[in-house]
Amino acid sequence: MATRRPSFFNFLKKLVMTEGIENIYRKPKRMRIYLKTPAQSLGRKELNRITSMVFTWCKNNMGINNRKAYRPIWSLSSYCDDCNIVGDYDHIENEILIYYKNLEDVRELIATCIHEWQHQLQPCRSKYNKFKGSYNKHPMEIEAYAAEKLHLSNCWRDIRNKVNR
Ligand SMILES: [Zn+2]
Repeated sequence: MATRRPSFFNFLKKLVMTEGIENIYRKPKRMRIYLKTPAQSLGRKELNRITSMVFTWCKNNMGINNRKAYRPIWSLSSYCDDCNIVGDYDHIENEILIYYKNLEDVRELIATCIHEWQHQLQPCRSKYNKFKGSYNKHPMEIEAYAAEKLHLSNCWRDIRNKVNR
């Protein structure tokens, strides 16, 4: 007389047949990315991929700074004391930092890259600290915010298909 005791083999078979196949063989479908997609839903690797495309776009469409011997380097940084700061340009190191954990969404990521790229084009080293007014009235900041407005939709139009490939 056979006893119907589930064997370990049957248990494994059932696991593979049900959850197993789902988990092992089906790649998660990449969700479509929009300007309003929250940055924190994407993860560092994905944000890095998008940032790279944005800076390539900036280089090709906003130009480069010929006063500098090297192209700026950029990186995503997880560390920032002030949670209101999303980006920074260090004109001494010629380095752009994106504080990706403070970013709201993809739109803000792109705007920040454009903003910092604009600073990289400006003669920051010689002129930035000469202005004694407030941040909001600083001519180089006004120009950087204007660059965001001017370029954001064109940049997204040009990279969105590649971002979602
Ligand atoms: Zn700025």
